[in-house]
Amino acid sequence: MGRGVRPVHGEEAAPAGAADDRMNGKDLEPAAQDAKGGITPSMAQFLEIKTANPDSLLWYRMGDFYELFFEDAVVAAQALGIVLTKRGKHLGQDIPMCGVPVHRADEYLQRLIRQGYRVAVCEQLEDPAEARKRGSKAVVRRDVVRLVTPGTLTEDSLLDARQRNYLTALFRLPGDGGAASFALASLDISTGEFEVGTTTAADLSGELVRLSPGEIIATDAMLGEPSVAAAAKMAAAPLTPVPAASFDSLAGERQLKARLGVSELGGFGGFTRGELAAIGALLTYVALTQIGASPVVRPPKRTGVSDVLAIDAASRASLELLRATSGEREGSLLAAIDRTVTGAGARELAARLASPLTDPKAINARLDAVGYLVDHGTLREDLRQTLRAAPDVARAVSRLALGRGGPRDLGQIRDGLAAARTAADLLQRSAGGMGLPELLADVSARLAGAPASLLQSLSAALIDDPPVNRRDGGFVRAGFRADLDEALRLRDDSRRILAALEAKYAEATGVRSLKIRHNNILGYYIETTALNARPLLAPPFSETFRHRQTMASAVRFSTAELEETEGRIASAAERALAIEQEVFATLAGEIALSNQALAALAAALAELDCLSGLAELAERENYVRPSVDGGTAFEIEGGRHPVVEQALRASAGTFIENDCVLGRAHAGAKPAGFEEIADRRIWLVTGPNMAGKSTFLRQNALIVVLAQMGSFVPARRAHIGIVDRLFSRVGASDDLARGRSTFMVEMVETASILNLATERSLVILDEIGRGTATFDGLSIAWATVEHLHEVNRCRALFATHFHELTALAGRLAEIANVTMDVKEWHDEIVFLHKVKSGAADRSYGIQVAKLAGLPRSVIERAGEVLAALEKQEGRSKPQTALIDELPLFAAARPRSSGAGGGPSPVEAALDDIHPDELSPKAALEALYRLKALRKRAE
Ligand code: ADP
Repeated sequence: MGRGVRPVHGEEAAPAGAADDRMNGKDLEPAAQDAKGGITPSMAQFLEIKTANPDSLLWYRMGDFYELFFEDAVVAAQALGIVLTKRGKHLGQDIPMCGVPVHRADEYLQRLIRQGYRVAVCEQLEDPAEARKRGSKAVVRRDVVRLVTPGTLTEDSLLDARQRNYLTALFRLPGDGGAASFALASLDISTGEFEVGTTTAADLSGELVRLSPGEIIATDAMLGEPSVAAAAKMAAAPLTPVPAASFDSLAGERQLKARLGVSELGGFGGFTRGELAAIGALLTYVALTQIGASPVVRPPKRTGVSDVLAIDAASRASLELLRATSGEREGSLLAAIDRTVTGAGARELAARLASPLTDPKAINARLDAVGYLVDHGTLREDLRQTLRAAPDVARAVSRLALGRGGPRDLGQIRDGLAAARTAADLLQRSAGGMGLPELLADVSARLAGAPASLLQSLSAALIDDPPVNRRDGGFVRAGFRADLDEALRLRDDSRRILAALEAKYAEATGVRSLKIRHNNILGYYIETTALNARPLLAPPFSETFRHRQTMASAVRFSTAELEETEGRIASAAERALAIEQEVFATLAGEIALSNQALAALAAALAELDCLSGLAELAERENYVRPSVDGGTAFEIEGGRHPVVEQALRASAGTFIENDCVLGRAHAGAKPAGFEEIADRRIWLVTGPNMAGKSTFLRQNALIVVLAQMGSFVPARRAHIGIVDRLFSRVGASDDLARGRSTFMVEMVETASILNLATERSLVILDEIGRGTATFDGLSIAWATVEHLHEVNRCRALFATHFHELTALAGRLAEIANVTMDVKEWHDEIVFLHKVKSGAADRSYGIQVAKLAGLPRSVIERAGEVLAALEKQEGRSKPQTALIDELPLFAAARPRSSGAGGGPSPVEAALDDIHPDELSPKAALEALYRLKALRKRAE
């Protein structure tokens, strides 16, 4: 803030509802009309800026506040829960206004962005004193310096440290009449991470959920399309329309080359025209929102459709990979496996979990690295200890590049560089000439390549724990610059002189309570109470003490000596501050030269944290290295569900491990009990509700995800032939937000599975056909299994409560029945959670209902109905005959006293009454209670 924009009339002059230090310079009254009712120059300025930013809330800087006016004020006051006031009139109407103090701007920004608003931050571009030189009516120059949108955030306070924040540009490739395809370009401007790829219409929602952008930009026309809007909704990303013209592939190519400082893009894998168009729109939008500031942009990663395990949006949600169904991180696979110690490592882990690989070589390289860190426990511990001290280098570098960085960011880069060096040493020492696995050797080389001179300059210049803001100085290490030390000495000396001066004046005047104070308007002054001021106002003291101000309870003075001291303090402090700013600029300049190297170093640190976190997980949770190859094997021995296992342990339960063997016969040992069925590709899983079917299904899908992301897996042994697409349709979920019924959703998702699953896919289907009438549902489930078997030829687990389906195992060669084992005990049911070969003999629904506490009368009646139904089965009797056999109300009425013992509620209540112990009032209440119970029983 400029020096001249402090309140001119002191604190009392601030308008109602505004904070004390709001400025009220005349030229800064935007919302005013001049005497003739015309628009003032400042109003004209405001309106011009607002007109240029119609879609954003305009934060208009006025001194220590950002003010909002008109409709923006109404909206923001409501969204932030702050006071809406008025200021001046425009065209005869009051102008609504509200404001947020600059020092709390981040907090308010976060709240508005979270609620989906965009904010245009308009700053004062000159000191108001400068403006006044142009004449008393001159308006302070202002302009928007940044558009804050959900996808373009850089501040730690606005971002989740453990979550990436992509801005994604989405472009539909023109020209193909059939199934559309889309190009996507995604950039996280808080780290420079950049990813480009192409996907099909069918995979769009899965791809968007995988990227999980903070904001999606596309043309209006595209955003209006139901399929695109639905996909964006699944990814829960706000949409921003941008002009179609910004999707310009030539401009994209030009901008990308400029950003990366290269003349050819071939080295990055070559981009299609569509991808360059998306890149064009992305970089144009970044330029538009950052207004002149250039973020770090790393060389883009290309993600081809076949490079990552395709998982559609519904399957991602149902498998709860990054978020649990509740929307929280808690309960997700990510939360269960995250042992990283840095935000950057956590982001890398989440990115890998969202994008498991399909190339066995790349997967095994990751597994080699994790394996090495599992085997070298001390190294892992030392690395993790080192990483704990490594700050978020990528975000610090980005903030500095955008001109939003401060001394703390410099300190973070220094600490990151130091951590990188230590980590590189640790890795190299551990290798002891034996050679690290490829990925770790690569990480180590990248860490060792960090610019050493930069670490030296930062360490020499900065104090250990530098402040966030550069404004107040105080971050340069003593001894770094002699001139700074000199200025600071003078400044501090002056402070001592002031204290001496105060003592001297108190002594000379006899006014013990005399104080030297400071405020922004008067600067330094001497203050006494009104009573004590009297001697100072009369000779001889009045010659030395010049009266400056009389307040209600105090009188303020100055002296020539005080003014001279003040001058010395001010100039020493100013000089010191200027030197510190110079040091900052030099260091920031040095960093800017190494932006790409630092970004690469940050990526290496993140990778190392991710790998050692996975090794830590494997060690602590007893995971094994999966064997991953290009075949179609699927052999899991002693598999566990990573999330349920941890949850059970927390409640002192034990998880029962289970085998799963799908696919044609393999050389590997066949798990005991499954010898007969070990070459079947599809397992039909039956068993009562609550027996653990869903858990079993999901755990096998999650083991695939873990294995292909390069993690060890919760099993005793695992051999997995690469899965190209993973589908999971588990449980019925309504999608009322999109206006589709459970059954419709189920069928849409089943359709996509049947259309897309290949021989390399793994399909998990739980209770298909439940959402409609029994025979409909059974028929659909039946036909679905046949299709999976005959056409898709994929590996599949199919849980069902339709026992009729178990007959399929006899008819189709590669289908096997397995069931969740249960034990019956005195008409009760005990779940063993163990998968065994064979079909469940019945569904045990009534026993489960009993466990759930259904009234005894209902359980008994259900038992009768079931017996009748079972008797009728096979006789193909018409339904009406069955109804005849089950007279409607024969058993439905609860008996007044519990059949087979146990008193009825009324009887139980009567038993509880002891008349001798009751007061008349309590007796009356008991009577009422009995009447009420009786009524309920009817
Ligand atoms: P279903 O799909 O058959 O209705 P779930 O898979 O939902 O059953 O499992 C029900 C509950 O049983 C789970 O919440 C879990 O607590 C427990 N459970 C499931 N599988 C196991 C297992 N293998 N070991 C221990 N407990 C399990």
